[in-house]
Amino acid sequence: MINNRLNEQDPEVFSLIEKETDRQNQNAEMIASENFASKAVMEAAGSVLTNKYAEGLPSKRYYGGCKFVDVIEDLARDRAKSLFKADWVNVQPHSGAQANAAVYLTFMKPGDKLLGFDLSHGGHLTHGSPVNFSGILYDAHFYGVEESTGRLDYDKIRDKAKKVKPKMISIGASAHPRDFDYEAFRDIADETGAFLWMDMAHTAGLIAAGLLNDPLPWCHVVTTTTHKTLRGPRGGMILVGKDKENTLGVVAPKSGRTKNWSELLDSAVFPGTQGGPLMHIIAAKAVAFGEALNPEFVTYQKQVIKNAKAMADKFVSLGYNLVSGGTDNHLVLIDLRNKGITGKTAEAILGKAEITVNKNMVPFDTESPFVTSGIRIGAPAMTTRGMGTEEFEYLAVLMDKVLSNPENNDLHVKTAEEVKELCQRFPLYNFVTV
Ligand SMILES: *Cc1c(COP(=O)(O)O)cnc(C)c1O
Repeated sequence: MINNRLNEQDPEVFSLIEKETDRQNQNAEMIASENFASKAVMEAAGSVLTNKYAEGLPSKRYYGGCKFVDVIEDLARDRAKSLFKADWVNVQPHSGAQANAAVYLTFMKPGDKLLGFDLSHGGHLTHGSPVNFSGILYDAHFYGVEESTGRLDYDKIRDKAKKVKPKMISIGASAHPRDFDYEAFRDIADETGAFLWMDMAHTAGLIAAGLLNDPLPWCHVVTTTTHKTLRGPRGGMILVGKDKENTLGVVAPKSGRTKNWSELLDSAVFPGTQGGPLMHIIAAKAVAFGEALNPEFVTYQKQVIKNAKAMADKFVSLGYNLVSGGTDNHLVLIDLRNKGITGKTAEAILGKAEITVNKNMVPFDTESPFVTSGIRIGAPAMTTRGMGTEEFEYLAVLMDKVLSNPENNDLHVKTAEEVKELCQRFPLYNFVTV
């Protein structure tokens, strides 16, 4: 109905949304950071809540008329807490990068040292890249994986931390196919007097389902996006596992009471780095967390890992080099150097075959970030459509055909038809428009 009105009022935007709906329907969506939110999540995100200003926190707002949005935000917070067994959570960050900004504002002064996971080894821009505020405002140092194994060496990270003496150590990645040892990281952080921060933007859904190591008991603070494996609306969130141990010695001016860092994190989100929260998105987060508390969510996440592993095994059998040799999670990172093709070309020709992936740096890459030697392929989105290991193996075979014949345009077009046929067997949304 809303879409009919949109069609009447603004057919230009309406038809572009329709085209994008078709693209999502007919395309093998294998970008590791993407997923398909449910209709219920999108309904909440498209609701009248977009009209409401609600600066502050539930029952402590700077605006009137918040009696219903207060309940909604409390629901989102309570569900997130039970999903991750967290003592404290803030569901207001507009995105993963915004959640991270609030963490820096809480724990770091400009010029303080950060020890983060190297971007070119799988880390994220917001972990100290020179083109991001985190690398501009803070003194960023990096640890990375071993060239021979594609894995972290915790003794080397410890040595690096002892040398750098960072104020904060960050964990978390956008393109690392292996799990992290949070206990080892906490030991390093304790030995060097650093705060430990995990950014689980990519893996939050797998962690919520109990299928990867849990960072909450070990890290001082944890951030995430809500739209990747967690399969909610586009947004961010901050969590603290154990609220009781958290004091930075900051004293509240009026009461003279020492503030918890969870309180400082709340202030770092608003007014520190954001204005009014997106209440429609917070409602959609509540819906998504409700879905994630369902037993079916665990079944889904188990299938994500199975599918990623099946695809990884198929690629290995076809002669591809996978960073770290395989995967523990939802993604594989292929080093294409032995195939004589760059990440940029691979992304472009797979795109012609209606398979969407992204080019990605591999550790110790010899190409620039615009060209790269790798591609990152994720399982979350196509698993949401209902595909299993057989389809993921088939997709790996199709990708191999395209990558082995980079100049053969006819083959790319033919593959696109095969991808469309596959997608038709797994309809994305059983309604015409979003
Ligand atoms: C995706 C991602 C982010 C950023 O999330 P946005 O919502 O795009 O701002 C931050 N950290 C990591 C590790 C990510 O993968």
